[in-house]
Amino acid sequence: MEKFEKPIYVTKAFLPPLEDYVDYLKHIWDTHWLTNNGEFHRQLEKNLENYLGVNNITLFVNGHSALDIAIKALDLTGEVITTPFTFASTTHAIVMNGLTPVFCDINLKDFTIDVNKIENLITEKTSAIVAVHVYGYPCDIYKINQIAQKYQLKVIYDAAHAFGVKLNNKGIGNYGDVSMFSFHATKVFNTIEGGALTFQCNQYKGLFDLYKNFGITGQESVDGVGLNAKMNEFQAAMGIVNLKYVDEQICKRKEITELYRNGFKNVQGIYFTEELEDVKQNYAYFPILIDEKKFGMTRNQLFEILKEYNIFARKYFYPLSSDYKCFEGKYKNYDLENARYVTERIMTLPIYCEVNEIEKIIDIIKNLRRY
Ligand SMILES: *Cc1c(COP(=O)(O)O)cnc(C)c1O
Repeated sequence: MEKFEKPIYVTKAFLPPLEDYVDYLKHIWDTHWLTNNGEFHRQLEKNLENYLGVNNITLFVNGHSALDIAIKALDLTGEVITTPFTFASTTHAIVMNGLTPVFCDINLKDFTIDVNKIENLITEKTSAIVAVHVYGYPCDIYKINQIAQKYQLKVIYDAAHAFGVKLNNKGIGNYGDVSMFSFHATKVFNTIEGGALTFQCNQYKGLFDLYKNFGITGQESVDGVGLNAKMNEFQAAMGIVNLKYVDEQICKRKEITELYRNGFKNVQGIYFTEELEDVKQNYAYFPILIDEKKFGMTRNQLFEILKEYNIFARKYFYPLSSDYKCFEGKYKNYDLENARYVTERIMTLPIYCEVNEIEKIIDIIKNLRRY
């Protein structure tokens, strides 16, 4: 088969029609209000509360700062149980706050934290569970909640992938103590860079807002040690505009997901997740697992060959964060059997493209299977 003329990447940042955004820029030029809880910032918080179906939200300059502040503000100590099958941000936020990550295995069904392996890892030092709704697939929030109550642990969800996801008709940001969303350019909904925390306890609003603005409470008073993690008006304006298009984008992603699922249905050696029960998904990614014995080549081999066709898939996530060089020899060797299995076989495929391109990608991959 012919290679693609232009490179195809796993994702492409969504941009709205330029005129829509320019209208907001004009307003910024009129008011000279560029940041610090401006009009667009306040508007976007309202619009997102509505869209995500949550009672409490606060915006941040990016998702990582939001997660960092959640961990700081909740005053966690000692050990935090988390997943190694995630983006660097999750583990780094834990470590940079002086906490010890305790890596728990994932399940093979949806790649989220294996709730049956959490309790074994709890010690008297454990203060929280930081789990990830990886690819927008919700964790087993009921079991996690049960464990958290039993051992008095805080629960923070890295929901960076889960914008717009609903579980039993309820926005995913309503579970756990706090959830972090990322609005990075590559995510389902973007504010160029950006992020948010959603949370159950009303009192957290003041706390998080304090932390993101140096702990400043008034012109002559500073009541906390904080950082600068405020979302600016240019980001907020992008969010207001992009939110109008996000449902349309999710629909398109769903169509592509269905094309992939149909295309790979009877292909031996390619495993993918089906529609999840009780979940309104956002189709943020299309991950596949390559089983070498049945497909005839490894994930790494397929990944390299696809590049020759100008298809740039991603090993998302490889390596496990527990295997990063910066953590070498620092933490215990945990049982991560499933996580290791998945990280060696997983690959995410392009999901922004036109339909005819997706069909060609499917054909190329099918033809590469060795019998
Ligand atoms: C993108 C991402 C983050 C970090 O968000 P930023 O907005 O890029 O700072 C954290 N965790 C996961 C799982 C992510 O994919």
